[in-house]
Amino acid sequence: MTQLLPGATIGVLGGGQLGRMMAVVARQMGYRIVVLDPSPRCPTAQVSDGFVVGALDDPDAARHLARQADVITLDTEHVPADLLAELEAIAPVRPGASVLRTIQDRLVQKQFLDRLGLPQAAWAPAGDPAELVAALARIGRPAILKVRRAGYDGKGQVRIDRASGEPAGEGAREGIDRASGEPAAAAAVAPVLDPLAEAAALLARLHGQPAVVEELVRFEREISVILARGVDGAHRIYPIAENVHRRHILHTTRAPAPMPDAQRRRAEAIAISVADAIGHVGVMAVEMFELADGRLLVNEIAPRTHNSGHYTYGACATSQFEQHVRAICGLPLGDPRPLSGAVMVNLIGDLWSGGPPSWRRVLAHPSARLHLYGKDAPAPGRKMGHVLLLDDDTGRALADADALIAALATRT
Ligand code: AMP
Repeated sequence: MTQLLPGATIGVLGGGQLGRMMAVVARQMGYRIVVLDPSPRCPTAQVSDGFVVGALDDPDAARHLARQADVITLDTEHVPADLLAELEAIAPVRPGASVLRTIQDRLVQKQFLDRLGLPQAAWAPAGDPAELVAALARIGRPAILKVRRAGYDGKGQVRIDRASGEPAGEGAREGIDRASGEPAAAAAVAPVLDPLAEAAALLARLHGQPAVVEELVRFEREISVILARGVDGAHRIYPIAENVHRRHILHTTRAPAPMPDAQRRRAEAIAISVADAIGHVGVMAVEMFELADGRLLVNEIAPRTHNSGHYTYGACATSQFEQHVRAICGLPLGDPRPLSGAVMVNLIGDLWSGGPPSWRRVLAHPSARLHLYGKDAPAPGRKMGHVLLLDDDTGRALADADALIAALATRT
């Protein structure tokens, strides 16, 4: 196996914060970074050696990047798999086109998980109104309708409530974001009497894009397994992350998630079987719902470094970003061992609504580390940065994280 040693050039498709943090670490190790993104001011370009301006689905721009790179990787899974397959003729693409083909379409991803026999929420395709009516008859309500492609952070999702007259049951907890008390799905649509008309209205909210529908899961908590898989198939697994979402966006991650060993091993085994079956190379996140009876359901696979793995950058011997570089360059994987308990809290653009936040409190906290991604256009829901709190008492760190966010929000 050829190793790409420091001095080699890594090409990154997409210039967001994941690419940026990887670039910082890769350059620290002596690698060169070139990035393709529509914006020359994107977070990754600010810390890169070279830059290609272009859309992620622009074949000429992508080929131009590939010709400058010894290996190509991704900041986002929303790069057309056919284009990646074409680039594979120019330089190795890790993860490869076939991984992306399976993951970037929710329907294909769910079929893949079913074939592996891995547990997931009941689901069905919803390509048109008639199919959605049939899907809801099978799955029941409440449910969530999700676009097959290009959805993230709750974008491209519609919550489908119970039909009028149905009992409310234990609905108080279904799909409700427990931290904020907000509905977990992006929008609720009141049911109407004609099922076909209702289905058409629901799909219209997704601009008629093909979708899948899932049962709304009553989970106890959400966790994710971040792992790396090398070119040789070796794995390294990070401490399991426990995630709280607010308005569909990750709010906090704590790690290690308090969890019995047997449950941890079950979660890890699921993630490893996904990475092996798909032939992944690089870091991967497998998000899961944990139910009250301990069952784990796979929610989503991300074939890249992940927001819920940001805690590793500061809290673990090898961060997910260094690990990704190691994996795609064919180096031995690093030690994922935690050096400390950790809580990561996201800094969302809403905090900028009255101007740039004052970082006084964050910077004064002895165990807090501030990360900002260099985005110059804060917008509601946009991830602008995060704060990492290093504390073996992760309960205390969670409380500190919320206090810091409250202080930022109230500008105190
Ligand atoms: P996703 O983009 O599919 O990861 O969804 C974002 C968030 O929405 C998840 O992390 C959950 O908090 C919530 N969510 C997604 N799908 C479901 C589901 N089937 N049941 C309950 N909550 C869900």
